[in-house]
Amino acid sequence: MDFSYSEQQEMVRNTARDFAKNEIAPFIEQMEAEKRTATELIPKMKKLGFYGTQYPEEYGGIGATYLEYVMVLEELSREYCSIGAHISVNSLCAGTINDFGTEEQKKLYLPDLLTGDAIGSFAFTEPSTGSDPRAIRTTAVREGDEWVINGEKIFITNSPLPGTAVIFCKDLEMEEKVTCIIVPKDTPGFVPQKHISKMGMHGLEVADVVLDDLRVPYENTVGGESGRGNGFKILTTEISVGKLGISAQCVGMAQAALDESIKYAKEREQQGKPIAKFQTIQWMIGEMSAEVDAARYLTYATAFARSAGKNIMFDSARTRLFVSQAAHRAASSAMQIHGAFGYTTEYNVERIFRDMKLAEIYEGVNEIQRVIAASALLR
Ligand SMILES: Cc1cc2nc3c(=O)[nH]c(=O)nc-3n(C[C@H](O)[C@H](O)[C@H](O)COP(=O)(O)OP(=O)(O)OC[C@H]3O[C@@H](n4cnc5c(N)ncnc54)[C@H](O)[C@@H]3O)c2cc1C
Repeated sequence: MDFSYSEQQEMVRNTARDFAKNEIAPFIEQMEAEKRTATELIPKMKKLGFYGTQYPEEYGGIGATYLEYVMVLEELSREYCSIGAHISVNSLCAGTINDFGTEEQKKLYLPDLLTGDAIGSFAFTEPSTGSDPRAIRTTAVREGDEWVINGEKIFITNSPLPGTAVIFCKDLEMEEKVTCIIVPKDTPGFVPQKHISKMGMHGLEVADVVLDDLRVPYENTVGGESGRGNGFKILTTEISVGKLGISAQCVGMAQAALDESIKYAKEREQQGKPIAKFQTIQWMIGEMSAEVDAARYLTYATAFARSAGKNIMFDSARTRLFVSQAAHRAASSAMQIHGAFGYTTEYNVERIFRDMKLAEIYEGVNEIQRVIAASALLR
């Protein structure tokens, strides 16, 4: 087994790292204050191909593998996780169409989604469910050549930004199966509500969306006629890949927590010497570095499996579970190493601590990841 990176992988990582440092960093203060994605970054990320890293060139992607994809997310999130998550959720929408859409749907929607000309959303969660697809209340009813969609989706990432959404609906004519439908976000009846006020991830735009007699062509059924009623499979497949994206974001945040801790431990002096000389600090840094590497290799192994065409439902549940907890421990240790200063907004570790928590919750809470991981072993 070869653990070295190819020239292309090194180049992708360095490009993402340089972009994050030179282009994202100057906008962080503004995004934190205004609680918006800096849309100035979108054309720049388009130019570098970040929206389509792992997707086929024929639809506007870069044609690289999931390994390069997670490297991009890791480096963007190392600087500012909101931008990694913005790309990752766009990819959930694009992935749904790439993996399950008809050829016409791929040709129509992917070129814009893979270049950032349309920003993707993935709308599953509702007031009564964030974890159970059987509890979906949003309805889709066929009327002639159209779908009529009514309901409410909550916590929908990127929904205030123009582009395309895939929406999971209860298909009333199909024994209440779930059908996934492509909806351009400028369709009348797609009504994002005010931005959700969050604890962290301020550069990620999230809002509830009311779906009010929204009409789209029947041909927007993901996968066409044969895709109707296939929503549960689409959901579980794509969320597996989404969890890989979240894992990459966590690796980036954990690495940033480690970087900040090393820097601070060398600078801060107590009892006439840098705190790096205290064994307590060395223990925390040693442990963090081991966990960051373990998290990274687990994430890369899952990315590799996905690129090899393997079903990663169990792998990505276990990976997300471990990696999000590793990021939690790293952020907590980093704050401890920074002492009182870590608790202030002057230092990045305060933001990393707030941003990290989401990774244990969205796209399925960690309790459910434990259940999925165990189910593969207890059959
Ligand atoms: C910032 C943000 C962005 C989001 N973006 C999106 C998005 O783009 N699209 C989208 O569709 N959703 C999105 N979500 C929603 C998110 O995916 C759900 O909130 C998440 O899946 C959890 O669902 P819930 O809040 O309904 O939790 P619940 O299902 O109500 O769970 C609450 C708690 O109950 C326990 N629990 C629940 N079910 C089980 C179970 N089966 N076994 C064991 N314990 C259980 C767990 O402890 C869990 O933490 C986002 C959420 C946030 C906060």
